[in-house]
Amino acid sequence: MAANFKIVSKIQMVDLKTQYQKIKTEVDAAIQQVIENTAFINGPEVKSFQTDLEQYLQTPHVIPCANGTDALQIAMMALGLKPGDEVITADFTYVATAEAIALLGLTPVLVDVYPDTFDINTEALEKAITSKTKAIVPVHLFGQCANMETIMAIAEKHGLFVIEDTAQAIGADYIYKDGTRKKAGTIGTIGCTSFFPSKNLGCFGDGGALFTNDEVLASKIRMITNHGQRVQYVHDSIGVNSRLDSIQAAVLKVKLKHLNTYAAARQKAASIYDRALAGHSRISTPKRVSYSTHVFHQYTLQLHDIDRTALREYLMAQGIPSMIYYPIPLHHQKAYSNPQYKKGDFPITEKLCNNVLSLPMHTELEENTQQYITQTILDFLKM
Ligand SMILES: *Cc1c(COP(=O)(O)O)cnc(C)c1O
Repeated sequence: MAANFKIVSKIQMVDLKTQYQKIKTEVDAAIQQVIENTAFINGPEVKSFQTDLEQYLQTPHVIPCANGTDALQIAMMALGLKPGDEVITADFTYVATAEAIALLGLTPVLVDVYPDTFDINTEALEKAITSKTKAIVPVHLFGQCANMETIMAIAEKHGLFVIEDTAQAIGADYIYKDGTRKKAGTIGTIGCTSFFPSKNLGCFGDGGALFTNDEVLASKIRMITNHGQRVQYVHDSIGVNSRLDSIQAAVLKVKLKHLNTYAAARQKAASIYDRALAGHSRISTPKRVSYSTHVFHQYTLQLHDIDRTALREYLMAQGIPSMIYYPIPLHHQKAYSNPQYKKGDFPITEKLCNNVLSLPMHTELEENTQQYITQTILDFLKM
């Protein structure tokens, strides 16, 4: 029973403090350097992190910006999308994906996802294409890539841009049928990511970036992030103010060196959860696909015939947090509801919103903590 386990520290969904303590010397020195230089905006750390990330992702152009939501918006501005253009994305995602589309006056067109991978259903995606469709935004949800080979083929056939939302999957490898690999976010026209603190590569505040292989697009993106400025005080287009500040870049430069180790720690934690829970008939553990590695931004279960609220309360009473990513389908949100969507239009998303449960997942999880978590879940299921 649960009481047999001794858990020393409070269990958290994400443990940024322990992670920080392990790299404290390096991070503190990097931050101190920025303070000494006082180049808080566009300091040398920004360019240096950008170059490191280009190297890591094996992509020619990384453009840092202020956050992941901005990255999505800037991507759509750079592609010249105009009000009325339709952009297709998944109904089961974080709101930022649809928000960036709607903010620009573009029309978000939602489609359902696959029940096992949570990724955009590519058959539904192709059916949703109209003469107004301009772009597809696949979301590599929870840390595993959507089926990019199929998505890119659809995009090519219909002449569409692909903007990868890789906010949850930085560092994941997409694996082509012939075995070649590319980093998540470097396959589509533009990749967008977030460095929000709890993301797999997180800074100490807000941050984000765009990736592209296209030099012309890269310079447009750079211009848009800087007030549409070509040279100082010359504005060719309406831009935004979206910068990654030097302190965040300094932190990210240190943490990027640990990203693969962090991914390995998450993968190990995932396999420990799997071992304890995969055999249970009322639980589905996260599916792994042949075309992507999984970097486990989240470890998300599906519960079958289980009272999720009661389970969460039971876990909480034993000091175990859990989260629901995401509780409400986008098409049920007031801001994104549309008379053309009816209840039952996206049955998989509606079902997932009712049966998913994410367990604590981070780089510092201890095996005994995980045993305590899984044993507590199994105890509940026996009641
Ligand atoms: C976090 C996240 C974003 C937004 O990133 P911010 O940096 O918080 O703006 C966008 N899409 C997805 C899928 C995310 O998880």
